[in-house]
Amino acid sequence: MAEKNDKKDDKKAKDSKQKSAKKTEGYSPKKMCPKCNSRMADHADRYTCGKCHYTEFKSQNKGG
Ligand SMILES: [Zn+2]
Repeated sequence: MAEKNDKKDDKKAKDSKQKSAKKTEGYSPKKMCPKCNSRMADHADRYTCGKCHYTEFKSQNKGG
């Protein structure tokens, strides 16, 4: 049995570099981590720090 060499499809990954300047004007001050002073992720009911994994629950409204 003879093996046939199929054509090889060389796929080159194109390096697409896109630069987009983002303006941070009029942004509201985010919650900062009291532990490492890093910006915390704003969740629905809590804040979480991506650095030290500190979690702070938001103050829930009383009476519902
Ligand atoms: Zn932190």
